[in-house]
Amino acid sequence: MSNCIFCKIVNGELPSTKVYENDDVLAFLDLSQITKGHTLVIPKIHNENIYDLSPAIAAKLFEAVPAISRAINKEFEPQGLNLLNNNGTFAGQAVFHFHLHLIPRYDENDGFD
Ligand code: 5GP
Ligand code: ZN
Repeated sequence: MSNCIFCKIVNGELPSTKVYENDDVLAFLDLSQITKGHTLVIPKIHNENIYDLSPAIAAKLFEAVPAISRAINKEFEPQGLNLLNNNGTFAGQAVFHFHLHLIPRYDENDGFD
């Protein structure tokens, strides 16, 4: 998708701070982090949201999530981690390339309600 910002990040047209990468999946820090280490995990192939995701791509994505979570734990030492995914404008989706939010949690005042 030529006008998709996450596709541009995948193909290097836009910069990002990478947390993890393999052939199918990319994880990078969110531009405006809700908490320190807030990371987005995306399939490299363009899928709008959960409704478009094939089982094979979904499997590849979730296979990578434990290793990404451990990398976040090692780097940022949070007390916990929330996984979040928005599908559709009404659900808060702003970027229409499937992404999973990994949101490290520190304490009750860490900024994420
Ligand atoms: P959504 O609301 O679609 O679930 O989340 C989109 C997320 O993408 C937001 O948290 C927003 O901060 C992040 N974001 C938007 N544009 C960029 C960008 O160019 N680079 C990065 N790293 N994150 C972005
Ligand atoms: Zn895309």
